[in-house]
Amino acid sequence: MKKILILTAGFGEGHNAAARNLRDAIEEISEDAKVEVLDLFESSYGIWNTMAKKAYLNVVRFTPSVWSGVYSFLDRSNFVKGHLGGFARLQEALGDILQQTQPDCVISTYPVYAHVIRELYREQAERPFPLLTVVTDSITVNAAWFSAPSDWFCVPNEPTAEMMRKAGVPAEKIKVLGFPVNPIFAELAPEVVPPKEGERWRILYLINTGKKKAGKILDCLLERKDVELTITVGRDAELKAELGERTRRAADRVNLLGWTNQMPQLMRSHHLIISKAGGATVQEAIAAQTPLLVNQVIPGQEEGNARLIEQEGYGAVVEGKNDLIEQVDSAFAYEGKLWRKWRQNLQRDSRPDAALRLAEFVLEECDQPDPSSKKIQLFNNAPERFTLGSATANTVSPPRALLCDLHTHTNYSDGKLTVSELVDFYGQRGFDCLCVTDHIADPRRTIGKLSRLVNLTVGENQLAEYFDVIEREKRRAWRKYSMILMAGLEFNKDGLTEKSSAHLLGVDLVGPINPALDLVETIAQIHTQGGLAIASHPHIMKTEWGKNTLYLWENQERYAPLLDAWEIANRNNLFSPVSAMRLPFVANSDFHRPKHIYSWKTMLYCEKDPAAIKACIRRNDQVSITLYRDGGARQSPAPRIEPLAISESSRAGLRNGSPVTSHFVKNGITICDSNRANEGADKGLQRIYERAI
Ligand code: ZN
Ligand code: ZN
Repeated sequence: MKKILILTAGFGEGHNAAARNLRDAIEEISEDAKVEVLDLFESSYGIWNTMAKKAYLNVVRFTPSVWSGVYSFLDRSNFVKGHLGGFARLQEALGDILQQTQPDCVISTYPVYAHVIRELYREQAERPFPLLTVVTDSITVNAAWFSAPSDWFCVPNEPTAEMMRKAGVPAEKIKVLGFPVNPIFAELAPEVVPPKEGERWRILYLINTGKKKAGKILDCLLERKDVELTITVGRDAELKAELGERTRRAADRVNLLGWTNQMPQLMRSHHLIISKAGGATVQEAIAAQTPLLVNQVIPGQEEGNARLIEQEGYGAVVEGKNDLIEQVDSAFAYEGKLWRKWRQNLQRDSRPDAALRLAEFVLEECDQPDPSSKKIQLFNNAPERFTLGSATANTVSPPRALLCDLHTHTNYSDGKLTVSELVDFYGQRGFDCLCVTDHIADPRRTIGKLSRLVNLTVGENQLAEYFDVIEREKRRAWRKYSMILMAGLEFNKDGLTEKSSAHLLGVDLVGPINPALDLVETIAQIHTQGGLAIASHPHIMKTEWGKNTLYLWENQERYAPLLDAWEIANRNNLFSPVSAMRLPFVANSDFHRPKHIYSWKTMLYCEKDPAAIKACIRRNDQVSITLYRDGGARQSPAPRIEPLAISESSRAGLRNGSPVTSHFVKNGITICDSNRANEGADKGLQRIYERAI
C-alpha cells in the first residue's frame, strides 16, 4: 500500500480544490493507494485559523488594494522564513504526523508547508520521502512557492513554468502537467457548438462577489433575446430569491441554481462563463474549453489568472457592467468570430485530464527506490480499513454497537457543509452510519409567507444531482471511513399552524419522490424504495427557527401504523411522550452545522449493513440513544467506539440494577438512558452494556 499525504490550506479557493481533485484522481487510478488530505492550519490553529481566514476574506471583500499590499509584502519580505518561529505549533504537528504516518510521498498545494518541511529535516542529509509542490497560481507566482526546496514543482501552464525558470528554479525540476481540476473534466460530453438559426447562446454566470450589481447585469444580459442564462448563487438563499423575482419575466431563458456539485458539466455545456478570477474557476473554465469573461480580480493572488486569460486569449477581463455587456456583444458578433478564436486557443492549451496525469506522476514517484529503508509500519490497522471497500456486499460482519445519525442537512438545503465535507466530518468521528436528509418542500404548501423557505430546500432541478453526489460519496465514505452513507430526504409539509405541519424523514432512498404527494402516499413511496419513514421532531421543542410540527403526533392513530419510527430526540430536545406511547424510536441531531454534533444520536446493536440497520430500527429492538460528545476530529485511523470502556462505578451500578443515568465511555462518547425516557431505550442500552462488560 502506498501512503500519500496531501497538505493544503483553506485560504483562497484553489488550494483545497487542487488537493481534493488530486486525491480523487489517485484513488481512481490506484486500488492500493491511501491518500489523506490535511489542512494543518485547520487542526493546529483552531480558532486562530478561523480568524485569519475571516480577516483574509474581509480584506478581499472590502479593500482589494490593502490585500495587494499584504500579498506583495509576503513576496518581498521573506515573511515565511522570518516568522517560522511563530509557526512552531504547525511545525510540531507536521513533524508528528510525518513521524507517525511515514508517507511514501508528500504533496503540498500551499506554499508554507515546504518551508516547514525544510526546517524539520534540516539536520538530515536526506528527507525520507519525495516532496511535490503543486503550484496553484499562474504567472504571478509568489516567491514563497519556490523559495523552499521541493523535488518537483508541478505548474499549471507553460507561462508559469517560464516565469519560475526566470526566477531561478532549475528547469529539470519544473513539470508542466496542468492544474488538477476535477477528473470528471476528462470524461465530459463533446463541447457545445455555436448556436444555429433559432438557437441561443448559453451563458453561465457564477455570482460569488459583487452581488449588488448582479441584478443590473442580468437585466442587461437578458435584453439580448438570443441569450439564455444559467446563474449560480452558491449558498446565498436570499440572493436566489431576489434574482428569481427579478428575472421572472424571462423565466424560460433563466435557470437559477443555488449550490451545485455539477460545475464541470455546467461549464462544458455553456458557450461563455462570467466569473471572478479565482484560481480553481479559471482553471476549470480552461479545462472545459469554455471562454471566460472575468469581472473581478483580487489584486495580487488573482492577477496572474487574469493575465493568463488575456495573454493566452481565453476570453477577456472586463471592468464594470457596460464593459461586460460590450464584451459579450463583441464575442458573439459575426457568428461568434471572436468567440471561436478564444475557443481555438483553449482547445490548444486545455488539459482536462491534468489531475489524472499528476496522479500517475505521483504514483511513479512513490515507486522510486525508498530513500529510507528504516521505515516502520505505524499505520494502525490501516490495511484492514482499506481492503474492506470492494468486499462490502459479501462480508458478513458480526453484530456490534453502531453509532448512527439519520437526520442531517447539507448545503443542498440549509446546512453549512457540502456532502463530502459532511462525510469527512462524521467519518473522522468514527460514525458507522450517516443519512443525508436535505429538506424538500411541498410546492402546494409554499404560498405566501412560506415561500421564502423554498430557497432553503433542494430545488427540483437539483434533485437528480443530489442523489448522484451522495451515490458517489457512498463509495468514498466506505473506503475511507468504513462508514455507511445513505441518501434521504426530509419532506417539509408545512401548514399555517403547528397542528397542520409535519416533517417526515425518508431514510435510505434510491431516488427522488414527488414532494407534492400527501403524507400517506409519501410514506408508501418511501417503503416502495425500501426506505424508512420516520417522524421528525414530532413533539414540542425549543426550535431555532420555524415552529413545531405536530400534525403526525396529533394524528398518530392514523400514522403510527404506517411509520417505522419516531424521533424520541432531535438535537437537544427529548420527547418523552414518544416513550410514554411506546412508539418505536430513534434519536438524531438534525445536523445543520458543526456544533450540532453535540446532540442525541442512535446507537444500534446489529450487523454493519444497511439492510440490518433498517431491520433493527423497524423491529426497534437493540436500539438505544446516546448523547454524543467529542474532542474534535481525529486523524486516521478513525476512532472506534468498541470496546466500550465503562467505569467501575457504572459497572457496579449496572450489576446492582440501579438506574443508569450517565456514563462516560471511551472516545468521549457518553451513553445515557435519556432520563429513563423510554423503557426500550433502557433495555437496548442494558443489552449493549452487558455485551461490553
Ligand atoms: Zn425538520
Ligand atoms: Zn431537519
